[in-house]
Amino acid sequence: MNLILLGPPGAGKGTQAVRIEETYQIPHISTGDIFRKAIKDKTELGKKAKEYIDQGQLVPDTVTNGIVRERLSDEDCKEGFILDGFPRTVNQADALSSILEELNLSLNAVINIRVSDEEVINRLSGRRICKSCGASFHIKFNPPAKSGECDECGGDLYQREDDNPETIKERLNVYSKKTSPLIDYYEERKLLKTINGEQGLDEVFEEIDRFLDTIK
Ligand SMILES: [Zn+2]
Repeated sequence: MNLILLGPPGAGKGTQAVRIEETYQIPHISTGDIFRKAIKDKTELGKKAKEYIDQGQLVPDTVTNGIVRERLSDEDCKEGFILDGFPRTVNQADALSSILEELNLSLNAVINIRVSDEEVINRLSGRRICKSCGASFHIKFNPPAKSGECDECGGDLYQREDDNPETIKERLNVYSKKTSPLIDYYEERKLLKTINGEQGLDEVFEEIDRFLDTIK
């Protein structure tokens, strides 16, 4: 089963991807992870990507596409994969379609986890992280027993720089400009399945699971 996960920041893509990976035994491929692996394995493209990252620059599409191609050629992707964080643009979606064609693979579905902007802002702006152990809390949905203090280790809780409402709005703008056109792109290709992301994590996964059972 070859899948793509789409959804705005805060939609819980990472969490759902891990559950799909465990249930269906297919690798979860996040672009962050494959960059780290390519760099660690010192592949040609990994070295190139590292040069850009070290200079604080965005890795260009040619390099990103190449790294995705390398990863999808790995043995463990023969039975399927879940792409998370790629493609991010229509150009990358076109590149992906050529890569898959070359590898004799095709997409089975694109799962779009839909969450409103308002809900994303609520979720991310209420998030608090422990300085000592990295545990994550939410002031409304998952509050620590004692305000500002980690339940796990007693460390101080802080708000990540990019979780303030202004930055979240910017991240949502980038998403709606560059990534949300992919929703139409895959709708036209009859691959899109939209899931209501404004439910509990278990309910979201149950909806995804029911859908995947129908396309297995
Ligand atoms: Zn802690």
